[in-house]
Amino acid sequence: MIRLTRKGALRWRAGHPWIFRPDIVVPDPEPEFGAIVAVATPDGRKLGFACWSNTSLIAVRGLPLPYDLDPNNTEALDEAWLALVDASIARRSHRPPCTRLVNGDSDGLPGLIIDRYGDGISVQTLTQTADRLKDRLLDRIQDRLNPAVMVLRNDVKVRALEGLEIEKVLVMGQDPVVVADFGVGTAPPLKVAFDLMEGQKTGGFLDQQDNRFAAAQFLHGEVLDCFSYDGGFSLALAQAGRKVTAVDVSEPALARLRENAERNGLTVETACDNVFDLLRAAESDGRKFDGIVLDPPAFCPNRKAIEPGRRAYKEINLRAFKLLRPGGRLVTWTCSAHMQRADFEKVVAEAAADAGRFVRVIERRSASPDHPTLITVPETDYLKGLHLEVQ
Ligand code: SAH
Repeated sequence: MIRLTRKGALRWRAGHPWIFRPDIVVPDPEPEFGAIVAVATPDGRKLGFACWSNTSLIAVRGLPLPYDLDPNNTEALDEAWLALVDASIARRSHRPPCTRLVNGDSDGLPGLIIDRYGDGISVQTLTQTADRLKDRLLDRIQDRLNPAVMVLRNDVKVRALEGLEIEKVLVMGQDPVVVADFGVGTAPPLKVAFDLMEGQKTGGFLDQQDNRFAAAQFLHGEVLDCFSYDGGFSLALAQAGRKVTAVDVSEPALARLRENAERNGLTVETACDNVFDLLRAAESDGRKFDGIVLDPPAFCPNRKAIEPGRRAYKEINLRAFKLLRPGGRLVTWTCSAHMQRADFEKVVAEAAADAGRFVRVIERRSASPDHPTLITVPETDYLKGLHLEVQ
C-alpha cells in the first residue's frame, strides 16, 4: 500500500492520475519494478490502484481497476490490467480499420498505446507496468486481433525516465509496410501505405483522421496544404475533388504522398519548401487560394518555447489569412500541449486582425474520437483546431 501525502491525496481526488514522488510516502522496501499497487490517504484509507515506477518522478499513475480487488493478489491485478486493454479495444469496435485502440491514461492504461493500421498493429509500452506486462499483452493482441504485422515502437525518449531501453522491434510478420483502408465516412476509403517501423510516432498520425475528411468537406476550390507530411489532409482533399498543393520540407514524405495519391488515382501537386518562405513568396507573387490547411509540428514543445511558438503560429496564420480569396476558408491546428485552446484562439484572432480580415469561426475541433482526453487533465487535450471563414 502506497500512502500519499495530503497534497498527493488532494491531487488524486481532483482526478489527476499522475502523482509525483515528493507527494507520496515512499515505503521501505519500495514496491517492485512496475508493480500494480494500492494507494491510500495519509491516514491509510484506500483510494484505489496505480502503476508504480521506481525511477520516474511520476512514481504513481492511477489505474481505474475495481476497488475491491485484493491488493496482495498480483496475478489478479495483472489480469485486471489486461482486462482494461480488452475493454478499450471493445470500445473502439465501431471505428474504421485505422484506429487508436488504446490511448494511454485516457483509456485508464498509463503509458500504453495500441494503434491499428488495417492488418498492422503498432504498440508502445512507455511505463514500467506496461513494459513488464508486454509479453502477455502481445499474446493477447495476437489472439484478439490476429494481425499480419506487429511492431513495438518503443523508440521514445520518455522510456529512459522509466529505466527502459529505447528500441524498435518487428514482433511478427515480414514487411512492416502495410496498405490500409483509411478514412471515415468516405466511400470508397483511401488506400494508404504506413511504414510501421519508420513512419512518425507509431507509423502515422491517426489523431487527425476524422479531421482530414471534415476539412475536405469544409474546404473548396484551390487548396494549399501546409506541413503536409505524407499527405493526410491532401489525399482527403483530392478525393473530395479539391485542387491541392501540398507543402513540406521533407522530400521523402512528399514522395510517399505522391505514391499514395497514385495508388488512389488522385492528383496532388507537391512543393518541397519551407512553409514560412513559401507563404511569403506566394504573397509577393500575388497568389490566392480558396482554402488553406495549417497543421504544423508543435511550435511550443515545452513551456520555455511558448513565446517563440506563439510568434510562429501568428506568422503562418497571418500570412494564410492574407492569401485567401473573399469567402475563402482556413483550417488551422496546433498540437502543442503547452498552448491552451484559449491562447491559440487569441493568437489566431491577432493574426486575423493584423491581416485586416473579417473572420468567423464555423467549427472548433479536437483529436479524433479514438484519442479521448481526460476532463480532469486539460493537457491531454493537446490537439486544437479551428474551421474559419474569411469575408
Ligand atoms: N499535416 C500532417 C502532419 C504534419 S507533421 C498530417 O496530417 O499527417 C509536421 C510536418 O511538418 C512534418 O512532415 C515536417 O517535415 C514538416 N515541417 C516542419 N517544419 C516545416 C517547415 N518550416 N516548412 C515545411 N514543412 C515543415
